[in-house]
Order: sequence, then C-alpha cells, then structure tokens
Amino acid sequence: MALVRMEGVSKYFDAGNTVANYQIDLEVDDGEFLVFLGPSGCGKTTSLRLVAGLEQPSEGAIFFDDERVDGRSSSDRNVAMVFQNYALYPHMTVAQNIGYPLKVRGIPPDERDRKVEEVTELLHIEGQVDKKPAALSGGQRQRVALARAIVREPTVFLLDEPLSNLDAKLRQEMRIELKRLQNELDITTIYVTHNQEEAMSMADRVAVMNQGTIQQLAPPKELYERPRTAWVARFIGSPPMNLFQGTRRNGTIDLGDAGTVAVDEMTGDRGRIEPSGDEAVVETEPKRESGTAIQGDPNAAGVVTTTERADVALGVRPEDLTITTTQPSSGNAIEGTVDTIEPLGEYDLINVSVNDQLVNAKEPTATVDRGDTVYLTFADEDAYLYDDNGELVG
Ligand code: ATP
Repeated sequence: MALVRMEGVSKYFDAGNTVANYQIDLEVDDGEFLVFLGPSGCGKTTSLRLVAGLEQPSEGAIFFDDERVDGRSSSDRNVAMVFQNYALYPHMTVAQNIGYPLKVRGIPPDERDRKVEEVTELLHIEGQVDKKPAALSGGQRQRVALARAIVREPTVFLLDEPLSNLDAKLRQEMRIELKRLQNELDITTIYVTHNQEEAMSMADRVAVMNQGTIQQLAPPKELYERPRTAWVARFIGSPPMNLFQGTRRNGTIDLGDAGTVAVDEMTGDRGRIEPSGDEAVVETEPKRESGTAIQGDPNAAGVVTTTERADVALGVRPEDLTITTTQPSSGNAIEGTVDTIEPLGEYDLINVSVNDQLVNAKEPTATVDRGDTVYLTFADEDAYLYDDNGELVG
C-alpha cells in the first residue's frame, strides 16, 4: 500500500520564475526506503519539504494513507525530519534532547524515560545520555538527532543529506547503521542525497531527479542495468556510462572515424559494430503487423529500403569495454586514441579520445600507452541505444 503519494505535484518559487518541482507523481510504499538522488538544485529538498509540510505545493496533491495532507502544517502530519546540521539544543543533555518531542506532546516523564532508553540503546548511545551536544563527536551527534526523530514513532521518516557532515569512514558506518535501523523499525523513509553510493547502498528504490522532475524511479540494480534516459545513464556509475554520438540510418549507426554499428531493428537497444568502412547492406527483419501477408512486400527480403536519419547515442559502461591494439576481425570495435591512463589501485582508468570525445575504459592493468591507436570492444548485451530525445530505444 502506498503510504505517501504525490499526485501531479509542482512547486514554483519567485512568482513562478523558479520551478523547483514539476508534476511529480510518486508512490512510496509502507516500510519502503526511498531515496531522492540528483545534482544540486534539482529539487530534492523541496520534494522532501513538501512531504514534510514545510512547503505547500503550487499544484497537485499529497496523500498519506489515502488521506489528503497538503495544506496541513508539519505538526499535523506526524513526520520526523533529520537535517544535515542535526539542530540539537546545546543547553540540553542528550537524554533531554531526545525526550524533548515527547515532552512537548505531554507524555509523562516515566514513559518518556522508557522510550528515550529504548532508542538510545537502538542507536548505541546509551553511554552518552548525560552529556551535552558539545561534548559529542559528529557521529554521536548524528545518532542523537536520529534518536530524537524516531522516538515519537513518526509515520514517515524524512532525512535530508544527514551524513554529509561526517568523514568518509564514519559516513559508511552510519549508512549501514541507518539501513539496519530502518529494517528493524520498518519505518517508511524518504532520504535525500546527491551521493550516488549512499543512494544505491541504502535504497529500496531511487528516484533520480533532474530539473524538478523524476527521470527514473527504480531499484538501484535496475537503474544501473537499464537507465531509461541518456541523462540517467550519464549520472549513474563511477565513472558513468560512455555515450558515443552517432547518426542512425535504418539499421546502422555511423560513428564517424570510430566505426559503424549495426543495430538490431527489432530490439534496437543492442549494437553490433561492423568493421570500419564496411559498406555492407544491413539485413533486418521488416517491421509489419502480425498476420500481414508479406508477398510482394518490398521489405520481404529483409532489406530496409527507406532512408531515415536520426542522431543517436550508443552507450557502453567503462567496465564493459575491453581495449585492444589490434583491430578485431569480428564483433564490436570502436577506434580511438589513448589520451591518459589513471592508475587507481583497484583498476586502471584509461581515457580514450574517440572522435574528439573522451571516454573511459576500466582495465585491471593497462597494457597500452598514451598515443596508441586502440579498439574498444564490447559485447552486444552491454550496449544501449538512446534516441535524439535521450530515451532508451527498445
Ligand atoms: P541541493 O542538493 O543543492 O540541496 P536540491 O536538489 O535539494 O539542491 P532544492 O533545494 O529543492 O534543490 O532547490 C530546487 C530549486 O528551487 C533551486 O533552483 C533553488 O534555488 C530553488 N528554491 C528552493 N527553495 C527556494 C525558496 N525558498 N525560494 C526560492 N527558490 C527556492
């Protein structure tokens, strides 16, 4: 069941001149961990603030459990929000900070103490309860902020870049901790980050945002394996997918000096590279309605006779490219020149210039040198094709 639902939600600022969110449709399931991921300014925080009730939509509706909540204040929504800067009260002890939301609600001291004890144990900060925030480390402060948010058992837990003030090691520890906490409490969570690793490691589903819209909403593995737009393909992965610009004519993609790709017309999302300069006619299955008689059909021999041109992008991930210095006699191969080699320990990252565009290939150990002419080879199933609107074909 959808616990949080956004229907056609837009948010404009500056008398409509700034579009922070545009027609967002989203359902977050009960107990789900959903992450808004995207570059700075894409509208992640605004989306979260709309769910929290800290902003009201310019258009559209927001529901919690089929109850419409837009128009209601934050305090009427039973949400808990944790920010990057923790916002703890400096004059209160850890226990007082955590118990404060319960005190405001008039929960009696005994019950309050019991709940505070419960969450401090859950977050492993039971030894810190009498300290003031100034005496805590960054990681401990973050745990206190999380404890204070969950102590009142909110319907939805909202987190805005909660780990970005922590160092890399602590961030990773807290990532695991947060995921464990969310699993244990089974609490519906919406999390905002621009950090891909954070999103991919914690989310059940990721909403990838760009310019106020959701580009793709999918589990992390699906985002990586089937990025629906060229924009998402370029955003996910480290380094992200290479996109080779080309021109599609019927069943082939011309990559200029780098070679020619043959595309399976029926699926369209997998490429097969022909040797450079090969003028071979590409044989494809004709497109026809099922049951249509093919006798007398000009396409019956499988040769496409019409000429259509379109700008396309062929995508292959750096980890799916293999480099060779000899031109393969068959299979996919894109020609380029080695620009730089970055030894990164775990692997070497080889930057190759293809038609004046730099692309990346990951190899365990580079066996090529700067300036070498090389061929980037890849398997059919590792190639993606995006049309001139940036949409995945097939
Ligand atoms: P970041 O990762 O940098 O926090 P974000 O993806 O969270 O960015 P938002 O903070 O939601 O993005 O901002 C989206 C757009 O809306 C930006 O152009 C921002 O300048 C604008 N914006 C956000 N809040 C306001 C506001 N209160 N008044 C005017 N413009 C705003």
